[in-house]
Amino acid sequence: VLETERAVEKAASTEPSVKITNRERVIDPEGGVTKGRLADYYAEIAPIMLPWASSRPISLVRCPQGRAKKCFFQKHDAGSFGDKVHHVGVTEKDGHEEPYLYVDNADGLLTCVQMGTIEFHGWGSRIEDVEKADRLVLDLDPDEGLDFDKVRSAAFHVREMLAEIGLETFPMTTGGKGIHVIAPLTPQAEWPMVKDFALRFATALAQAQPDRFTAALSKAKRSGRIFIDYLRNQRGATAVMPYSVRARPGATVASPITWEELHTLDKPSHWTVADASELIERASAKALAGWGRADQVLPDV
Ligand code: ATP
Ligand code: MN
Ligand code: MN
Repeated sequence: VLETERAVEKAASTEPSVKITNRERVIDPEGGVTKGRLADYYAEIAPIMLPWASSRPISLVRCPQGRAKKCFFQKHDAGSFGDKVHHVGVTEKDGHEEPYLYVDNADGLLTCVQMGTIEFHGWGSRIEDVEKADRLVLDLDPDEGLDFDKVRSAAFHVREMLAEIGLETFPMTTGGKGIHVIAPLTPQAEWPMVKDFALRFATALAQAQPDRFTAALSKAKRSGRIFIDYLRNQRGATAVMPYSVRARPGATVASPITWEELHTLDKPSHWTVADASELIERASAKALAGWGRADQVLPDV
Protein backbone atom coordinates (compact mmCIF):
# COMPACT_ATOMS: atom_id res chain seq x y z
CA VAL A 1 0.00 0.00 0.00
CA LEU A 2 2.80 2.39 0.94
CA GLU A 3 4.43 1.74 -2.41
CA THR A 4 1.20 2.58 -4.23
CA GLU A 5 0.85 5.77 -2.19
CA ARG A 6 4.41 6.76 -3.03
CA ALA A 7 3.80 6.12 -6.71
CA VAL A 8 0.67 8.29 -6.58
CA GLU A 9 2.61 11.05 -4.81
CA LYS A 10 5.38 10.92 -7.35
CA ALA A 11 2.98 10.99 -10.30
CA ALA A 12 1.03 13.81 -8.68
CA SER A 13 4.08 16.01 -8.19
CA THR A 14 5.04 15.84 -11.86
CA GLU A 15 4.09 18.94 -13.87
CA PRO A 16 1.55 18.08 -16.57
CA SER A 17 2.80 18.30 -20.13
CA VAL A 18 -0.43 18.04 -22.11
CA LYS A 19 -1.05 20.69 -24.75
CA ILE A 20 -4.46 22.32 -24.32
CA THR A 21 -5.96 23.70 -27.52
CA ASN A 22 -8.71 26.35 -27.71
CA ARG A 23 -7.84 27.75 -24.28
CA GLU A 24 -10.20 30.70 -24.86
CA ARG A 25 -13.26 28.53 -25.56
CA VAL A 26 -15.95 29.33 -23.00
CA ILE A 27 -16.87 26.16 -21.10
CA ASP A 28 -19.19 27.71 -18.51
CA PRO A 29 -20.99 30.85 -19.69
CA GLU A 30 -22.34 31.69 -16.18
CA GLY A 31 -18.93 31.72 -14.55
CA GLY A 32 -17.11 32.85 -17.69
CA VAL A 33 -14.84 29.83 -17.32
CA THR A 34 -12.69 28.97 -20.33
CA LYS A 35 -11.17 25.64 -21.30
CA GLY A 36 -7.77 27.08 -20.38
CA ARG A 37 -8.89 27.93 -16.84
CA LEU A 38 -10.49 24.53 -16.47
CA ALA A 39 -7.20 22.89 -17.49
CA ASP A 40 -5.26 25.14 -15.09
CA TYR A 41 -7.62 24.13 -12.29
CA TYR A 42 -7.08 20.42 -12.91
CA ALA A 43 -3.31 20.88 -13.23
CA GLU A 44 -3.25 22.66 -9.88
CA ILE A 45 -5.66 20.36 -8.07
CA ALA A 46 -4.17 17.10 -9.47
CA PRO A 47 -1.97 16.36 -6.42
CA ILE A 48 -4.99 16.29 -4.09
CA MET A 49 -7.44 14.82 -6.61
CA LEU A 50 -5.33 11.90 -7.84
CA PRO A 51 -5.29 9.97 -4.58
CA TRP A 52 -9.05 9.55 -5.17
CA ALA A 53 -9.44 9.60 -8.94
CA SER A 54 -6.43 7.63 -10.09
CA SER A 55 -6.26 3.90 -10.72
CA ARG A 56 -10.00 3.27 -10.70
CA PRO A 57 -12.36 2.98 -13.68
CA ILE A 58 -13.68 6.44 -14.47
CA SER A 59 -16.54 7.85 -16.51
CA LEU A 60 -16.31 11.28 -18.01
CA VAL A 61 -18.87 13.98 -18.61
CA ARG A 62 -17.60 15.47 -21.84
CA CYS A 63 -18.96 18.75 -23.18
CA PRO A 64 -16.67 19.59 -26.11
CA GLN A 65 -18.58 22.82 -26.85
CA GLY A 66 -19.06 23.80 -23.22
CA ARG A 67 -21.68 22.92 -20.64
CA ALA A 68 -24.42 24.95 -22.31
CA LYS A 69 -24.23 22.67 -25.37
CA LYS A 70 -24.48 18.93 -25.70
CA CYS A 71 -22.71 16.83 -23.06
CA PHE A 72 -22.30 13.08 -22.94
CA PHE A 73 -21.33 10.48 -20.37
CA GLN A 74 -18.46 8.31 -21.54
CA LYS A 75 -17.57 5.00 -19.91
CA HIS A 76 -15.15 3.34 -22.26
CA ASP A 77 -12.99 3.93 -25.24
CA ALA A 78 -10.67 1.87 -27.37
CA GLY A 79 -7.82 4.33 -27.77
CA SER A 80 -8.79 7.82 -28.96
CA PHE A 81 -7.42 9.37 -25.75
CA GLY A 82 -3.83 8.43 -26.55
CA ASP A 83 -1.32 6.83 -24.24
CA LYS A 84 -1.82 8.99 -21.13
CA VAL A 85 -5.26 7.59 -20.45
CA HIS A 86 -5.17 3.88 -19.72
CA HIS A 87 -7.57 0.99 -20.05
CA VAL A 88 -8.67 -1.71 -17.69
CA GLY A 89 -10.64 -4.61 -19.12
CA VAL A 90 -13.94 -5.16 -17.34
CA THR A 91 -16.17 -8.12 -18.10
CA GLU A 92 -19.73 -7.05 -18.92
CA LYS A 93 -22.90 -9.00 -18.08
CA ASP A 94 -22.87 -10.80 -21.42
CA GLY A 95 -19.32 -12.01 -20.85
CA HIS A 96 -17.41 -9.80 -23.25
CA GLU A 97 -14.75 -7.41 -22.06
CA GLU A 98 -14.91 -3.62 -22.40
CA PRO A 99 -11.95 -1.28 -22.01
CA TYR A 100 -12.77 1.11 -19.15
CA LEU A 101 -10.75 4.26 -18.71
CA TYR A 102 -8.43 5.12 -15.89
CA VAL A 103 -5.72 7.70 -15.27
CA ASP A 104 -2.75 7.61 -12.95
CA ASN A 105 -1.25 11.08 -13.19
CA ALA A 106 -1.95 14.73 -14.00
CA ASP A 107 -1.28 14.17 -17.69
CA GLY A 108 -4.12 11.66 -17.70
CA LEU A 109 -6.53 14.16 -16.16
CA LEU A 110 -5.35 16.90 -18.54
CA THR A 111 -5.70 14.66 -21.59
CA CYS A 112 -9.34 14.15 -20.64
CA VAL A 113 -9.80 17.93 -20.25
CA GLN A 114 -8.20 18.47 -23.65
CA MET A 115 -10.84 16.03 -24.99
CA GLY A 116 -13.64 18.19 -23.57
CA THR A 117 -14.10 16.59 -20.16
CA ILE A 118 -15.58 18.69 -17.37
CA GLU A 119 -16.59 16.03 -14.81
CA PHE A 120 -14.75 12.96 -13.53
CA HIS A 121 -16.79 10.13 -12.01
CA GLY A 122 -15.35 6.98 -10.58
CA TRP A 123 -16.22 3.42 -9.66
CA GLY A 124 -16.09 2.52 -5.99
CA SER A 125 -13.27 0.09 -6.61
CA ARG A 126 -9.76 0.16 -7.92
CA ILE A 127 -8.22 -1.38 -11.03
CA GLU A 128 -6.31 -3.95 -8.96
CA ASP A 129 -9.63 -5.63 -8.20
CA VAL A 130 -12.71 -3.98 -9.64
CA GLU A 131 -14.98 -6.50 -7.93
CA LYS A 132 -14.14 -5.33 -4.40
CA ALA A 133 -15.50 -2.00 -3.18
CA ASP A 134 -13.19 0.48 -1.50
CA ARG A 135 -16.00 2.84 -0.56
CA LEU A 136 -19.69 2.97 0.20
CA VAL A 137 -21.44 6.19 -0.77
CA LEU A 138 -24.84 7.36 0.33
CA ASP A 139 -25.83 10.00 -2.19
CA LEU A 140 -28.44 12.29 -0.64
CA ASP A 141 -30.69 13.56 -3.40
CA PRO A 142 -33.20 16.15 -2.15
CA ASP A 143 -36.47 16.85 -3.87
CA GLU A 144 -36.46 19.98 -6.00
CA GLY A 145 -36.57 23.09 -3.83
CA LEU A 146 -36.00 21.29 -0.52
CA ASP A 147 -34.17 23.48 1.98
CA PHE A 148 -30.47 22.68 2.42
CA ASP A 149 -31.02 22.57 6.19
CA LYS A 150 -32.92 19.34 5.64
CA VAL A 151 -30.12 17.84 3.55
CA ARG A 152 -27.61 18.83 6.20
CA SER A 153 -29.54 17.24 9.06
CA ALA A 154 -30.17 14.17 6.90
CA ALA A 155 -26.42 13.80 6.33
CA PHE A 156 -25.80 13.94 10.09
CA HIS A 157 -28.51 11.34 10.59
CA VAL A 158 -26.94 9.00 8.01
CA ARG A 159 -23.58 9.52 9.70
CA GLU A 160 -25.07 8.54 13.06
CA MET A 161 -26.84 5.47 11.73
CA LEU A 162 -23.67 4.22 10.06
CA ALA A 163 -21.56 5.04 13.11
CA GLU A 164 -23.91 2.90 15.20
CA ILE A 165 -22.98 -0.11 13.12
CA GLY A 166 -19.31 0.75 13.22
CA LEU A 167 -18.68 2.70 10.04
CA GLU A 168 -16.84 6.00 10.08
CA THR A 169 -17.98 8.34 7.31
CA PHE A 170 -16.88 11.56 5.65
CA PRO A 171 -19.04 14.17 3.92
CA MET A 172 -18.48 15.64 0.49
CA THR A 173 -20.31 18.44 -1.27
CA THR A 174 -21.28 17.43 -4.79
CA GLY A 175 -21.10 20.88 -6.32
CA GLY A 176 -24.78 20.29 -7.07
CA LYS A 177 -27.82 19.86 -4.84
CA GLY A 178 -26.77 17.29 -2.31
CA ILE A 179 -24.16 15.74 -0.10
CA HIS A 180 -22.41 12.40 -0.38
CA VAL A 181 -21.79 10.53 2.86
CA ILE A 182 -18.82 8.28 2.18
CA ALA A 183 -17.57 5.28 4.12
CA PRO A 184 -14.11 4.17 3.01
CA LEU A 185 -13.75 0.39 2.93
CA THR A 186 -10.79 -1.89 2.95
CA PRO A 187 -11.43 -3.82 -0.28
CA GLN A 188 -12.98 -7.10 0.78
CA ALA A 189 -16.73 -7.23 0.12
CA GLU A 190 -17.76 -7.71 -3.50
CA TRP A 191 -20.45 -5.70 -5.29
CA PRO A 192 -23.52 -7.91 -4.71
CA MET A 193 -22.92 -7.74 -0.97
CA VAL A 194 -22.22 -4.01 -1.00
CA LYS A 195 -25.31 -3.28 -3.05
CA ASP A 196 -27.45 -5.40 -0.76
CA PHE A 197 -26.07 -3.60 2.29
CA ALA A 198 -26.76 -0.16 0.75
CA LEU A 199 -30.27 -1.17 -0.30
CA ARG A 200 -31.11 -2.49 3.16
CA PHE A 201 -29.68 0.61 4.81
CA ALA A 202 -31.66 3.00 2.58
CA THR A 203 -34.84 0.99 2.97
CA ALA A 204 -34.56 0.91 6.76
CA LEU A 205 -33.99 4.66 6.84
CA ALA A 206 -37.04 5.33 4.67
CA GLN A 207 -39.21 2.95 6.69
CA ALA A 208 -38.21 4.54 9.98
CA GLN A 209 -38.77 8.11 8.80
CA PRO A 210 -40.98 8.06 5.71
CA ASP A 211 -41.69 11.78 5.92
CA ARG A 212 -37.99 12.59 5.55
CA PHE A 213 -36.55 9.83 3.40
CA THR A 214 -37.42 7.70 0.42
CA ALA A 215 -35.53 4.77 -1.06
CA ALA A 216 -37.53 4.95 -4.29
CA LEU A 217 -35.80 6.39 -7.32
CA SER A 218 -38.96 7.91 -8.80
CA LYS A 219 -38.81 11.71 -8.66
CA ALA A 220 -42.60 11.89 -8.55
CA LYS A 221 -42.54 10.07 -5.21
CA ARG A 222 -39.89 12.29 -3.69
CA SER A 223 -42.23 15.16 -2.74
CA GLY A 224 -40.48 17.11 -0.02
CA ARG A 225 -38.16 14.25 0.86
CA ILE A 226 -34.63 13.08 0.30
CA PHE A 227 -33.93 10.11 -1.91
CA ILE A 228 -31.18 7.99 -0.37
CA ASP A 229 -29.49 7.06 -3.62
CA TYR A 230 -28.01 3.69 -2.68
CA LEU A 231 -27.61 2.82 -6.39
CA ARG A 232 -24.10 4.31 -6.46
CA ASN A 233 -23.09 1.07 -4.73
CA GLN A 234 -23.36 -1.48 -7.46
CA ARG A 235 -20.92 -2.88 -9.94
CA GLY A 236 -20.30 -0.34 -12.68
CA ALA A 237 -22.03 2.57 -10.93
CA THR A 238 -20.05 5.74 -10.45
CA ALA A 239 -20.06 8.78 -8.20
CA VAL A 240 -18.49 12.14 -8.81
CA MET A 241 -14.84 12.23 -7.73
CA PRO A 242 -13.57 14.57 -5.01
CA TYR A 243 -12.46 17.88 -6.58
CA SER A 244 -14.16 17.18 -9.91
CA VAL A 245 -15.60 20.27 -11.55
CA ARG A 246 -19.31 19.99 -12.36
CA ALA A 247 -20.89 20.83 -15.69
CA ARG A 248 -23.29 23.09 -13.83
CA PRO A 249 -23.74 26.87 -13.68
CA GLY A 250 -20.70 28.54 -12.11
CA ALA A 251 -18.38 25.56 -12.65
CA THR A 252 -18.86 24.37 -9.08
CA VAL A 253 -16.70 21.56 -7.69
CA ALA A 254 -17.25 18.52 -5.51
CA SER A 255 -15.36 19.09 -2.29
CA PRO A 256 -14.44 17.06 0.78
CA ILE A 257 -15.50 18.81 3.98
CA THR A 258 -15.38 18.01 7.67
CA TRP A 259 -18.48 17.17 9.68
CA GLU A 260 -17.76 20.30 11.70
CA GLU A 261 -17.87 22.45 8.58
CA LEU A 262 -21.13 20.92 7.43
CA HIS A 263 -22.86 22.60 10.39
CA THR A 264 -22.33 26.02 8.82
CA LEU A 265 -21.95 25.23 5.12
CA ASP A 266 -24.31 27.45 3.10
CA LYS A 267 -24.79 25.20 0.07
CA PRO A 268 -23.24 22.16 -1.62
CA SER A 269 -22.22 24.36 -4.56
CA HIS A 270 -20.04 26.50 -2.29
CA TRP A 271 -16.67 25.95 -4.03
CA THR A 272 -15.94 26.57 -7.68
CA VAL A 273 -13.14 26.23 -10.20
CA ALA A 274 -11.85 29.60 -8.94
CA ASP A 275 -11.02 28.10 -5.53
CA ALA A 276 -8.13 25.76 -6.39
CA SER A 277 -5.66 27.42 -4.01
CA GLU A 278 -8.16 27.45 -1.15
CA LEU A 279 -9.02 23.80 -1.74
CA ILE A 280 -5.35 22.82 -1.71
CA GLU A 281 -4.74 24.75 1.49
CA ARG A 282 -7.79 23.13 3.09
CA ALA A 283 -6.67 19.65 2.07
CA SER A 284 -3.38 19.94 3.92
CA ALA A 285 -4.91 21.52 7.01
CA LYS A 286 -5.27 19.29 10.03
CA ALA A 287 -9.06 19.05 9.96
CA LEU A 288 -9.18 17.52 6.49
CA ALA A 289 -5.89 15.63 6.54
CA GLY A 290 -7.49 12.30 7.43
CA TRP A 291 -10.53 12.79 5.22
CA GLY A 292 -11.73 9.64 3.47
CA ARG A 293 -9.33 7.33 5.28
CA ALA A 294 -10.50 4.58 7.61
CA ASP A 295 -9.47 0.98 7.95
CA GLN A 296 -12.86 -0.74 8.12
CA VAL A 297 -15.02 -3.34 6.42
CA LEU A 298 -18.79 -3.66 5.95
CA PRO A 299 -20.35 -4.77 9.22
CA ASP A 300 -22.20 -8.05 9.27
CA VAL A 301 -25.75 -6.79 9.79
P1 ATP B 1 -26.32 16.24 -6.79
O1 ATP B 1 -25.84 16.63 -5.45
O2 ATP B 1 -26.83 17.43 -7.54
O3 ATP B 1 -27.29 15.11 -6.74
P2 ATP B 1 -24.62 14.19 -7.85
O4 ATP B 1 -23.24 14.12 -8.37
O5 ATP B 1 -24.88 13.35 -6.65
O6 ATP B 1 -25.01 15.71 -7.59
P3 ATP B 1 -26.71 12.67 -9.18
O7 ATP B 1 -27.69 13.16 -10.18
O8 ATP B 1 -27.24 12.28 -7.85
O9 ATP B 1 -25.57 13.79 -9.05
O10 ATP B 1 -25.95 11.49 -9.87
C1 ATP B 1 -25.36 10.47 -9.18
C2 ATP B 1 -24.32 9.84 -10.06
O11 ATP B 1 -24.87 9.13 -11.16
C3 ATP B 1 -23.39 10.81 -10.72
O12 ATP B 1 -22.43 11.31 -9.82
C4 ATP B 1 -22.77 9.93 -11.81
O13 ATP B 1 -21.63 9.25 -11.36
C5 ATP B 1 -23.90 9.03 -12.18
N1 ATP B 1 -24.42 9.46 -13.46
C6 ATP B 1 -24.77 10.70 -13.83
N2 ATP B 1 -25.16 10.75 -15.12
C7 ATP B 1 -25.06 9.50 -15.58
C8 ATP B 1 -25.31 8.88 -16.85
N3 ATP B 1 -25.74 9.58 -17.90
N4 ATP B 1 -25.09 7.57 -16.96
C9 ATP B 1 -24.66 6.86 -15.91
N5 ATP B 1 -24.39 7.38 -14.68
C10 ATP B 1 -24.59 8.68 -14.53
MN1 MN C 1 -26.76 13.19 -5.78
MN1 MN D 1 -28.16 10.36 -7.23
